[in-house]
Amino acid sequence: MIDPETLMQYMLSLRHAGVTDRDVLNAMERVPRHLFVTGHFQDRAYHDMPLPIASGQTISQPSVVGRMTQALQVGKRHKVLEIGTGTGFQAAILSHLARRVYTVERHRILARPATKLFQEMDLGYVRVLSGDGTLGLPDQAPFDRILLTAAAEDPPSILLAQLRVGGIMVLPVGQTDAVQSLIKIEKTQDGLEYTELDKVRFVPLVQGMAND
Ligand code: SAH
Repeated sequence: MIDPETLMQYMLSLRHAGVTDRDVLNAMERVPRHLFVTGHFQDRAYHDMPLPIASGQTISQPSVVGRMTQALQVGKRHKVLEIGTGTGFQAAILSHLARRVYTVERHRILARPATKLFQEMDLGYVRVLSGDGTLGLPDQAPFDRILLTAAAEDPPSILLAQLRVGGIMVLPVGQTDAVQSLIKIEKTQDGLEYTELDKVRFVPLVQGMAND
């Protein structure tokens, strides 16, 4: 249980940081972040900051998750692909907004507990896959929305090919130890349209499966 005061402060911090979409705020209110944070970091679960998780990865900052979700403009009929499950926070939120969510993680040590946690929670359709997200999920393509939660040097063309015409991809791009740009790519009949949204800092998108 989250105490109501903590929840209220958390929701307020999201709004102040530019998360204003009602559906996104509702979805976030329904996903208790402490379930996705481990050990002694749990008491900071409702602070607006990224926190360490297993395998040297991070659970994203809530306001960044909110703004990315907002930028993705997810609809109830959408099939969504997320690359970089981590402990599953972002995917759980997406599951309240989309028809289906597929999320891919290269560390089995993260993918397994996320699968288990999702089974215990009251979520929409969300499936975790252990694998290399840079390859996407050709079997399930095309996707209406694709979200990368790890930074690529360039938008991966394999993933762009798995995006439906009319679809949107949101991802951080840039060198990993520098400030990165969060960009939105819209795939139209005529090609790709790029919009820069924000400055962010994410862990790197790494090719291949991890060995843990
Ligand atoms: N979406 C998460 C953020 C996790 S951090 C959240 O809601 O908090 C980003 C994750 O991307 C890490 O767990 C990292 O292991 C994963 N990742 C990096 N490269 C990947 C790849 N090629 N395929 C799948 N996952 C990848």
